[in-house]
Amino acid sequence: MKRIGLFGGSFDPVHTGHLLVACAAREERQLDRLYFIPAAQSPFKPESQLAPAADRLCLLRLALAGLPWCEVDDQEIRRGGISYTIDTLKDYVRRFPDAEISYLIGADHVPKLPQWRQASELARLATFLVITRPGEPETPLPPPFRGHRLSGFPFGVSASQIRSRVKAGLPIQYLTPPQVAEAIYNKGLYL
Ligand code: ATP
Repeated sequence: MKRIGLFGGSFDPVHTGHLLVACAAREERQLDRLYFIPAAQSPFKPESQLAPAADRLCLLRLALAGLPWCEVDDQEIRRGGISYTIDTLKDYVRRFPDAEISYLIGADHVPKLPQWRQASELARLATFLVITRPGEPETPLPPPFRGHRLSGFPFGVSASQIRSRVKAGLPIQYLTPPQVAEAIYNKGLYL
């Protein structure tokens, strides 16, 4: 049975934390393929102004260039509006009916899972892989959600930290791959 991972988020921008989560999920859960799925607009941050979708996609493609088991899926951006995970998950279930589908999620989002759209259907269709950032409490998955905790390589960087460092003129090397950092500067993002 094929094991597929889905990794949703704003990716504004993608950073080393995301990539370490991806590597841990592949290693610890033997994923065959991992799809990075940038949201058009998060239901939990409806008012937040994101960088243009084309730029977020470009940065993701640069970050994943050397990882043949990773792929960028722009379906939420093409759909537009608020991005609901259940719509994306149903698309994967339709396309890969025989696969085991896992959804990667940061521990900070776990307590709110029961509030996600069609939560019980979501819990039925996917296994959740949870990664805790350093210093974060271990949050158990609320039933009926099921899944596994990834040990990974806990790394506390966040996209908002990168945005504020760029704005403050501080370096972002090692927080995101060099080709992503270079593109952020060349495009004049987050100033
Ligand atoms: P922001 O700082 O803008 O809120 P973010 O860094 O949390 O962004 P997202 O694109 O919103 O990035 O995250 C996508 C997913 O990756 C979420 O489930 C989030 O919890 C998880 N994630 C982000 N950074 C890390 C990290 N350093 N370690 C583990 N999980 C992370």
